Amino acid sequence: MAKDKRKRQTITLVCIPCNRRTYTTTKNRANHPGRLERKKYCRFCRGHFPHREAR
Ligand SMILES: [Zn+2]
Repeated sequence: MAKDKRKRQTITLVCIPCNRRTYTTTKNRANHPGRLERKKYCRFCRGHFPHREAR
């Protein structure tokens, strides 16, 4: 049972308030066809803010 690497895509998360790239992660394209959005800590804003997948 090998992982199908084509289904996992590397994405960059951008902090919405400051527009900086703060995280990179992977997501499963089949489970998240649209843009991923997560609340994460931004070291530039010094707090938790929504982050969106960059395109
Ligand atoms: Zn920020």
